[in-house]
Amino acid sequence: MTYNKPLPKINADTKEFWNGCKQHLLKIQKCGDCGFVRYPPSFICPRCHSTETEWIVAAGKGSVYSFTVNHVAFHPAFQEDLPYVVAVVQLEEGPHMLTNIVGCDLSEVRCDMPVEVAWEAITGEFSLPKFRPVL
Ligand SMILES: [Zn+2]
Repeated sequence: MTYNKPLPKINADTKEFWNGCKQHLLKIQKCGDCGFVRYPPSFICPRCHSTETEWIVAAGKGSVYSFTVNHVAFHPAFQEDLPYVVAVVQLEEGPHMLTNIVGCDLSEVRCDMPVEVAWEAITGEFSLPKFRPVL
């Protein structure tokens, strides 16, 4: 099956994250100086500006911080998915992650709802971390 949606553009900051996704490991960064856990990946810690970084594997669990239901496709390839949920999930480790909520009816999505990662392999090179309700 052909994947027609835009693919992630990998750079030096995000390479480790996307390599982790390919193996279904949700890798996020932890500052080597102040311990702040962050996402999206960045070269320096937004809290203390240190460049000392370690990658950790997040548990893949969190809760819905905010969400919206998209009824308009902003790219033609998303037309077939309408309507779908775009959400900000707060990971147990702290960072927020922009993602989709899958595996439930749209009407069931609520803020603070417990969710866990649901990997979607979109090509041989990429898997996307989406989230589904914890049953
Ligand atoms: Zn720091």
